[in-house]
Parts: sequence; structure tokens; C-alpha cells
Amino acid sequence: MNMPFDDREGVVVLGGTGSIGRNTLAVLASMPERFRLEAATCRCSLEKLVDLTKDFPFAKLFCAERPQDSTLPDEEAVLELIGSDRVKTVVCAIQGIGALKFVLAALEAGKRVCLATKEVMVAAGEWVTDVARKCGGKILPVDSEHCAVFQCLNGEKKAAMKKIWLTCSGGPFHAHPEVDLHFVTPEQALRHPTWNMGTKITLDCATLMNKALEILEAAWLFGATEEQIGVVIHPQSMVHSMVEYRDGAVLAQCGPTDMKLPIQYCLTHPERCPAFMKPLDFTQAMHWDFLPPDTKRFPALELARKVLRMGGAAGAVFNAANDLALTRFLNHEIAFDEIVQTVAAALESAPRSAPRSFEEIAAAKEQAEKVVAAWR
Ligand code: MG
Repeated sequence: MNMPFDDREGVVVLGGTGSIGRNTLAVLASMPERFRLEAATCRCSLEKLVDLTKDFPFAKLFCAERPQDSTLPDEEAVLELIGSDRVKTVVCAIQGIGALKFVLAALEAGKRVCLATKEVMVAAGEWVTDVARKCGGKILPVDSEHCAVFQCLNGEKKAAMKKIWLTCSGGPFHAHPEVDLHFVTPEQALRHPTWNMGTKITLDCATLMNKALEILEAAWLFGATEEQIGVVIHPQSMVHSMVEYRDGAVLAQCGPTDMKLPIQYCLTHPERCPAFMKPLDFTQAMHWDFLPPDTKRFPALELARKVLRMGGAAGAVFNAANDLALTRFLNHEIAFDEIVQTVAAALESAPRSAPRSFEEIAAAKEQAEKVVAAWR
């Protein structure tokens, strides 16, 4: 029997059970005529993944922490599938640097990567952008700020760009100078005013480390220098980011605070398709605030600039040090303000050359963790 010809785009979703993954599956389910979910992966919540993919009965499912006697395919099978003709797009929503091997495999095969894992660009930006360029792979940023910048750069000449303005909600403490950051508890830090996200990113928003990571991500995604990236506090999170041009014009991208929007844009780029979320209502009065960040209280932003000036493996150290510092903070071993201090200390011993192998990434991580673990 001949199978009917299926010309839909095959998509692999890495990290299907996290917040970006779930939103991606919802977007794919809303466009069944255009996309075919080829496979979805999760770290450990296989039951949840089965439930989330019930609209896609033919999708293959992978679980990183699969039981020993499992008949489920393994990581090698995922990498093989990513490289195959059945897949056009890989949505990478795995948290952390573990995503790197999948991103590289996709780019090496010339695939389109919708990238939500900022750590990949932070730790291995030079390596990843090089592979994309050489192999014809394309990186589309899902991170809402970078997706906004990507949209604001549409059709413009790179040389006309003067500055990228990343907007930042400020997290729970920026608007409260009376809060002594030394005494902030994990419970307080985990309350985020605008977005409902996972633990790591919520803590990163509270320290402004998330914005620091995004400065590094923007530098690699858009080939921007340290002077070309600014941060502006915008508590309403309606303007997702802006690009200032050399003639003084500023293009801003705004819209509802729903991650389905940037995900859908990356999936359908360069097309725009109808979406089904509550739009901004300009018939109602509203006001949007913009204010400069308090870089004294939140030194993470300046630290990111230092990482850009240092180059080499500083990004990989920065990322790994932050991961362990967050864990130590959650375990009540270090204070909230010491998260950024330990990362700063770890940077001092960052290897000079940019990582070009998994061994070098691991070495930078090990170096960073040694310093953070020894703090106090
Ligand atoms: Mg973001």
C-alpha cells in the first residue's frame, strides 16, 4: 500500500514537558495542516509527555532517564532522527548546556533550530554560530527578547543598527530598593511578577542574571558588541525588546505576554500566521514605563559586559558558575547577593580560549564549579 504523500514540515521538540515545550506542542496542534510532530523528548516525565502529545499519535517519544528495560529509543536515535530528511525544524527547549549536542547535530545537518536554550549561546556561542554558518543551519531565537530583536531587524541593513535594547521586567526586587538583597530567601525569590516559568529562570530573573545571560545571547545571535547592547527596565513586559537605528528611529516589538507568539513566529518564519490569544487592547488606557536598571544593586548586568570583554571560555564559566550558585542558594548555603559574587569570582580563572569541544565545555564547567563550591 502506498502511503499518501505528506508534505508537512517535520518537527522535533526537545524538552516537551517544560513551559516552552508545552507551548510549542500547543502551537503545533493548532496548525496540523502545516506541521507534523516527528518526535518529542523529555528528561523524566514520560507520562506527562504521552499526555501532552495525544494529538500526535504518530510522534516518536524519547525519555532521557528511561528505565533500564525500556524499549524506548535512546539519545543516539534522537540525534539520527534530527539529521534525517524527515525533520526540517528542531525546537530546542531543554534547559541547560545538555542541549548543545542536539543543537550542533541539527545545525550540522543544515536544519532550522528554534532555540529557547540561551545557555547554548552563552557557553558555546562562537562554536555554534560557526557551525551554523559553515553547514547552512539557521538559528531562530525563541527567547522573547531576542525574537523581538530578530523581528525589529527584519529587512534592515546590519550596518544601520546602532543599539539593541533588551527589555527587562526587573524581577520581584528591582522596584523595591528597601529590600536588602543579602536577606532574600528562596521563597521570596521564586515569586515573579509577570511571567510564570520554571525555578531556574525565575531565580535568574530575580538576580537579573537572566538579562545578563540574554546580553551574551544577543551578542552571538546578532553579532553585536558590548556597546551595542543596552538593558531597559520595563515592568509591564509588553515591549519585548527594541532596536535603535543610526538615524535615531527605534523599532519596538510589542504584544501579549504569551510565549506561543515567539514560538509560532520562529516556526512559521518568514510568514506570520493567525494566533489565538488575547491581543493587546489599545482601546483601553494603559501606560508603559521604561527606566534604567540599578546596576549597583544588580551587578549581574555589568558582569555580562565583562564576560564579553574577556571572551574565551568566560561565557561557559559564567553559565556553569551561575547554575551551581543557584543550587547552593536554594540549599540555603549562600546568600542571594552572593549568587552573582560567586559567579564573578569564578570568572577570574576562566580558560582563555573559546570552547570548541565538549571536553573544553566540561573543563570550563569543572573550573567554575570548583570556585563556587569553595565559596565560604
Ligand atoms: Mg527572555
